[in-house]
Amino acid sequence: MTMTTGELSTFRRELGTWDCGHKGPVLCVLAGMHGNEPAGVLAVQRVLGRLQELELDIQGRVVAFGGNLQALAKGVRFLKRDLNRQWGQDNIGRLLLGNAADDSEEDREQRSLLALFERVIQAARGPVVFVDLHTSSADGPPFLCLADTSDNRRVALSTGIPLILGIEETIDGASLEWWSQRGIVNFAIEGGRHQHSDTVGNHEAVLWLLLESLGMLRSAQFDVAPFRAHIKKVTEGQPKVVEIVHRHAITAGDRFVMKPGFKNFDAVRKGDQLGTDVRGVVPAPYPGRVMLPLYQALGDDGFFLARDVRSFWMLVARGMRRFRLDAIVHWLPGIRRDPADVNTILVDRRVARWFVTEIFHLLGFRKERPRGNVLAFTRRESRPENRRLAR
Ligand SMILES: [Zn+2]
Repeated sequence: MTMTTGELSTFRRELGTWDCGHKGPVLCVLAGMHGNEPAGVLAVQRVLGRLQELELDIQGRVVAFGGNLQALAKGVRFLKRDLNRQWGQDNIGRLLLGNAADDSEEDREQRSLLALFERVIQAARGPVVFVDLHTSSADGPPFLCLADTSDNRRVALSTGIPLILGIEETIDGASLEWWSQRGIVNFAIEGGRHQHSDTVGNHEAVLWLLLESLGMLRSAQFDVAPFRAHIKKVTEGQPKVVEIVHRHAITAGDRFVMKPGFKNFDAVRKGDQLGTDVRGVVPAPYPGRVMLPLYQALGDDGFFLARDVRSFWMLVARGMRRFRLDAIVHWLPGIRRDPADVNTILVDRRVARWFVTEIFHLLGFRKERPRGNVLAFTRRESRPENRRLAR
């Protein structure tokens, strides 16, 4: 592994800022949200170090924060609660109304991060892009996880790394949710296996490619070609876009054990054995690709299954959004606007049965928790300035 203990001896909240006083996008990087994932911290420190050393005259600002500092210091995913499952509105409301003296370890981290995130947004003189750097317990190429909005998708695709759509609909309270609610372009970068020798370099490469595609760094200033070549090599043969269709949620009582040897993106058939738990064999409920198989003690996701999204559907989605079909979809039988929220559409599952989720995804909606026979879809927010990004 390329990290040394010297490089990782200190975990600070403010990992650094680089700003040459020019207008432009703000790239806000969070690293080490999970304390057993220090590779992102090292990668962003390398990028900031290089920007400073070469005095690169960038447009806009790069700002980076350390995530769960107490867990990073101990090298564990979290102490009391997963810091990346507490960013829903309810939990933040509880935190902000509560007394700081009663904060748990992760509450303290979140309170500090929330104040910094607000400051980043207030100080921005251009569109903000938030990225959250993670690593996983399984081998495989780097990939990006994002909510499926056209802005997120365009910026993420500009890096040339495979995209995973729909993970935020199956997990409650990831930090991405907080940024999505504010209409800010955001995604998570999965850099590779925690301890793999490529992982820090993968994260570093994605960050440089992002700086270039966001127009913050010009190729005449700094040659990103070696990073592009690196990403091309490590993602060779992978699909461009996949969509999560299944999450295998687990609790400690399940005593789930993932069958060894799965890598991210591995294809499985329906019925293939993916692991075991107290009830016996855990088979794949659908054919698909295994994503984020759990090979560590802590976590409440055993694995995810994804399917490839063909470029045809990407084109259909673009067309549907361009013609604003989302504005008239409530005319269809079984579909109505939520009287309590103009951005939410309710679907009666007894009337509208087929492809409802697929169509609403294409139209730019997020699926909420089912309410009995009713499915609710909320329009994803987007700021007008996002359209200037990665054009
Ligand atoms: Zn993580």
